[in-house]
Amino acid sequence: MFRYAKTLIRREACRKALPNFSTASSNFPQVCVIGSGPAGFYTAQQLLKSHSSVQVDIYERLPVPFGLVRYGVAPDHPEVKNCINTFTQTASKDRISFLGNVSIGQDVTFTQLRKAYHAVVLAYGSAQDRKLNIPGESLSNVCSARRFVGWYNGLPEDADLKLNLDVESAAVIGQGNVAVDVARILLSPIDILRKTDIPESVLDSLSKSRIKRVVLIGRRGPEHVALTIKELREMIKLKQCRPNLIPQDYQHLKALLPTVPRSRKRLIELLAKTGLDDPDPKLASAYARAKREWQLRFLLSPVEILPTEDGQAVAGIKLAKNRLEGEVLNERAVQTEECEVLECGLVLRSIGYKGISIDPSLPFDEKTGTVANENGKVVGQKGVYASGWISTGPVGVILSTMTSGFNTGKIIVADIESGELDTSEPKSGKVEVLKIIAEKGLQPVTFDDWTRLDDFEIKVGTDLGKPREKITEIRVTNDSHHNIERRSRPKGIVYVKFMW
Ligand code: FAD
Repeated sequence: MFRYAKTLIRREACRKALPNFSTASSNFPQVCVIGSGPAGFYTAQQLLKSHSSVQVDIYERLPVPFGLVRYGVAPDHPEVKNCINTFTQTASKDRISFLGNVSIGQDVTFTQLRKAYHAVVLAYGSAQDRKLNIPGESLSNVCSARRFVGWYNGLPEDADLKLNLDVESAAVIGQGNVAVDVARILLSPIDILRKTDIPESVLDSLSKSRIKRVVLIGRRGPEHVALTIKELREMIKLKQCRPNLIPQDYQHLKALLPTVPRSRKRLIELLAKTGLDDPDPKLASAYARAKREWQLRFLLSPVEILPTEDGQAVAGIKLAKNRLEGEVLNERAVQTEECEVLECGLVLRSIGYKGISIDPSLPFDEKTGTVANENGKVVGQKGVYASGWISTGPVGVILSTMTSGFNTGKIIVADIESGELDTSEPKSGKVEVLKIIAEKGLQPVTFDDWTRLDDFEIKVGTDLGKPREKITEIRVTNDSHHNIERRSRPKGIVYVKFMW
């Protein structure tokens, strides 16, 4: 059984020729982008559009492209992933290359890239998660929402995540859209999830889940939730599931409404309506039959995760009650001495993603998990730019990441044209980098390779009546021809091995 590809790749000698890239060094401006999520692809798109000769190489740590669009966005939101069509069009242009399976900072250093390119764009997102730093956080069945999301999205490094879903209650710490995504996946009827691209092995686990209650916990009040109205509506209408809200929590909302900014008014109205009013008759009869429920709890901060008697798993969370201090709608939560215990068998921490530094020379802000930059230009590093979550922090959606990527692309082109970015001296671009990769015995993955895997996933998925079956075990080897193998196991679970 193969584990995550990266560990295997390094051990294998490179006997196969490198992919068929044009390797001639050129006098054209050479730009590389680290990361192939929306930030990377939108920056590349803008560069190609605004400059007639720039060459762009995208380096990606994973063997496949698209970052959180493939491995973050919820599987039951396929329309959000349509931006992949635009990225694919960009990747098909002559002046761009995709080199997957190359981790910058590990396989190739940032300094080596700086030498090989006129400009380097950091677009590598926020791959870590924030911790609660409370006792009990290392118990089994306490997990970050980030890993849970990776697991149900088929991210190879999370394919082996072992969670015990043979419990009745789950607590999600956080009330943002990611928290709602994980709650929805835990509570959705399995027949609905079967129509998504959730891997078969994950569907098998979810189909055996006994979870019937998910509680989302927030430090402040309902007026402060970070979720958006679309996600709330989906929860309200979730099949075979009902909201179980505490009316007192919502009573102050109607009086607050005149002070709520316009952008959040409808959300707060809907929260108040759901918390206080009787549902319309159609929903009411569906709620009466529902076997699962979700709840929002407010003004609570986790202080300890409590173990079961044998000390091995989660029995509950000790929560401190908070009071609010400060200006209305901008209050901060202040913990009090009063506590309550919420019983649950699974805890998912959804308190934000966090970027990491890939090189000590970068001006990295540990607190925000971002690379210090002014409007996309990395502070104190000529020729180094940033876009997307690594530049802004893990906030905002694909649309805001697009704006960030386009902006950075435009700034680079302006710097080339004004001469602020010196491109007069030829640079080797990927020629040098491919040598480094080959010397290490690594095998980069091209966009053509991805296209073949994409076709294969769609084909397997079609046979199973779903959009695609994601390959969660990707093995990149040098010792055989490109090869995709599929095996079936008992109970219809598909196990797929993919080799280059
Ligand atoms: P990423 O998408 O994370 O891309 C970064 C890429 O860099 C990754 O592919 C990563 O593998 C690669 N990388 C990392 N380190 C290295 C390295 N050292 N070398 C080479 N490559 C590296 N937005 C919406 O609009 N709608 C949604 O429904 C939605 N749902 C979301 C659900 C979740 C769970 C999350 C976390 C986010 C969601 N978003 C959604 C937000 C959206 O995903 C982000 O705005 C966007 O992906 C940020 O883009 P990025 O390119 O900065 O980062």
